[in-house]
Amino acid sequence: MSSTTSKKNPWGPHLWPPFTQIISASPPIRVLGGDGAILHLENSESLIDAISSWWVTLHGHAHPEIASAIYEQAKQLEQVIFANFVHPQAEKLATRLSALTGLERLFFSDNGSTAVEVALKIAYQFWANQGEPRQQIIAFEGAYHGDTFGAMAVGERNLFNEAFEGLLFPVSRLPWPHTWWDDQNVENKEQLVLQQLEKLLKTPTAAVILEPLIQGAGGMKIVRKEFLQSLENLVRKSGALLIADEVLTGFGRCGQVFAFQRAGITPDLISLSKGLTAGFLPMGVTMAKESIFETFIGEDPRVTLWHGHSFTANPLGCAAANASLDLLAKEPHLFEKFEERHRPHLEELSTHSKVSKPRLIGSIAAFDLAVNDQKGYLNHTGKVLQAKALEHGVFLRPLGQVVYLLPPLCLTDDQLEKCYFAIKKGLDCF
Ligand SMILES: *Cc1c(COP(=O)(O)O)cnc(C)c1O
Repeated sequence: MSSTTSKKNPWGPHLWPPFTQIISASPPIRVLGGDGAILHLENSESLIDAISSWWVTLHGHAHPEIASAIYEQAKQLEQVIFANFVHPQAEKLATRLSALTGLERLFFSDNGSTAVEVALKIAYQFWANQGEPRQQIIAFEGAYHGDTFGAMAVGERNLFNEAFEGLLFPVSRLPWPHTWWDDQNVENKEQLVLQQLEKLLKTPTAAVILEPLIQGAGGMKIVRKEFLQSLENLVRKSGALLIADEVLTGFGRCGQVFAFQRAGITPDLISLSKGLTAGFLPMGVTMAKESIFETFIGEDPRVTLWHGHSFTANPLGCAAANASLDLLAKEPHLFEKFEERHRPHLEELSTHSKVSKPRLIGSIAAFDLAVNDQKGYLNHTGKVLQAKALEHGVFLRPLGQVVYLLPPLCLTDDQLEKCYFAIKKGLDCF
């Protein structure tokens, strides 16, 4: 390591942070604790975590009921090999998620990317198992499905995966007809995509994968439920499987427990993670219809799903997930009513000259900064706004020029007001 890099490296000699170019990185903020939507820092300072720590924190930081569920489970059983054993927390979670999603089978993995990998592998092998292999997979422009190879392949091809382009399997791609308040052209955009989809589906298709209602990392891009319903009709006619990546949208973020429910569609496979354990522990699950599972049963060893992870069905993660589902069931108004709490604030903000394309779904509010700079994730205006909001005690992490709030469900009215106030202060920088 050259001395210039070490001097310029605010992360010190050993840490390698995610999604970060060290040369331009701000020093990391040292955090000592959390409580509800608040992060406690050194020097008795604090910040509102307005993005749920990368969209995972669901009921708040260090939630006592989840913490104690994990503690109680850790004293009983911390881990066991899941190919030979089963345990009550896993059984309970499978029963509950099956009832909530309507999809009977649950396969465990470790994070959102692996929950997507598993969905893709199941979808692809589903066709092979029936002696009718299908090659085509359809995904959307702007999609983000994770950072492992299969997940990268179905995600938008961009700067983040450019180095691996040669290793990613081919995917057929459609525009994402996203919309915002006062969008006059949405039905046209949707029709064009549906026509393209119809054409693509003439080629035998294994699966269509999408983020229901809102693309997250691609820029908080919302589509209408009418579009998803028409899409589902076409997909059904073709026989292809529909994969809903609900890694971000699941567990109340979009106003109902799952976004597919609000959209009025029924996926064949669902990937879940992030809020699954309320943001306490890394865990992913893939839900599958029983009719898919059945094609993996047989004497021929080749029909088996040969996939698994060391920490499959980790009892601590399952305990956290079960405790989180208890909280969701106890206080559904927290996710059902969040949209109406955002609305007046976003309406006011939308009159600002630097705010364009305001949009809102469930607990997620977003807009584009109408400031001239390069497009996309490397746009710097978001960084300027982020720094200003930090001064006002609110942690944001704009996606390029896209500014959004995605707070934990426990955020108080007072804290919500502070978030919007901090954004306004940020907007005044332009
Ligand atoms: C974050 C995310 C993933 C990847 O999840 P990781 O746990 O970060 O691997 C996949 N899909 C969507 C929609 C996401 O938002």
